[in-house]
Parts: sequence; structure tokens; C-alpha cells
Amino acid sequence: MYHNIAKPPRNARLKSLYITPAQFERQLKFLKLIGYKYSEIDKIEDKTVIPTFDDAYKDFIENAYPLLEKYGYKGYVFVPAKLVGKYNEWDYEKLNVKKEIMDWEDLRFLVSKGYKIGSHTLTHPDLTKLSDEELKKEIFDSKKILEDKLGVEIDTFCYPYGYYNDKVTEMVKKAGYKYAFLVEEKRCSLDKPYEIGRINVAGNRVFVFLSFLEKFLRF
Ligand SMILES: [Zn+2]
Repeated sequence: MYHNIAKPPRNARLKSLYITPAQFERQLKFLKLIGYKYSEIDKIEDKTVIPTFDDAYKDFIENAYPLLEKYGYKGYVFVPAKLVGKYNEWDYEKLNVKKEIMDWEDLRFLVSKGYKIGSHTLTHPDLTKLSDEELKKEIFDSKKILEDKLGVEIDTFCYPYGYYNDKVTEMVKKAGYKYAFLVEEKRCSLDKPYEIGRINVAGNRVFVFLSFLEKFLRF
């Protein structure tokens, strides 16, 4: 699980959301070296890696995309559908930085290159705190907007902040998504397709690469 592939702005809070392009390149190089391959979620095998990128920031297409292509990987990008072409309205005050989100042209380009786009709701709320009506909108309408604008089926979902409960999961299922991703760190498995764990690759540690390596070897 990645968020920003960029150098953190000087005054940004929560710098752990940032991985520099140089760090990201080292990680891809390493994954390639130890024989990890990319596949879509329904085709995972041993030694599969699925880089995922929450919030669909512009730095994905600027910095991550060229490196993924260089090393033969693709990825999943989770998009807050109402904020395409805008910025992180949900946390820019807290983080002290407005981060640009990709526009429809960027997303269409990524689809044409084999990347998977998933829903990250409409506006990135805590889904466990919404009324039934709002919950339905965030989950159903984001799927429809993305499908209408991109012309592909959207079958993956990612819970904002990783917050979910049974009601949320039921709604995600009802909307027709096949898989939903968590923030929680656990092994990626399809046993529970609406609770797929991820490894958070955080940039707040001095030895970010070593910690990445350690997490990978644990599995
Ligand atoms: Zn997010």
C-alpha cells in the first residue's frame, strides 16, 4: 500500500505517506530480483506482488508509473470518484498540503496501459459513520461514475482509512464489487475477498528499504 510517490513537501504533516521515487525504484528492483511478478487480484499465486496506490494522486502518473513500467509491473489505483482532477479535500487541512488528484485523462491513459482502477468512494469519508443513504451513495455512485467515465468494469473497492464494519462490507458486496482492500497488514489472500490485507510501505523510517525487505521476507 502506497500513497504518494514523491519527496514530501517541507511543511507537510504525515510524511510517512510519502515514498521518494528513488526509494520506490529500489523496492521495485529488489522485488524483481527476488522474482516477484505482478498479476491482477483474481490470479494471484506465490511470489505475486500487487502495488496499490490509494487516493490516485498526480504523483502516481508523474513518478510511479514510469518506474513501474521500467521494471515490468502494473498496479491498482484507488480513486475518490468525486474528487478526480481536484485535491485531497478530506484531509488537506490536517496535513497542511493540497495534493493534486489525477484527472479523467490520466485515469483513461492508465486503463489503456493495463492498470486497474478501483473505487475509493466518492469523497473519502469514514464509512462507519454515515447514514444508510450516504453509505449507499458513496459505494454505489462511485462505481457508476468510474465505469461511465472509464468504460471498464470497476470490481475493486478500498475502504478509506481502512474503516469498515459488517454493514459497509454488505453494501460493497451488494454494489457488485468482487474485492475490497484494507489498510490492515496481513497476508494477501482471497479467502475473505472483502477483507484483503496489505503491507503498508511507509516512508517515515530511516531504513525504509530495510523495513520493507524485512516485511517481505516475513511471508
Ligand atoms: Zn485514502
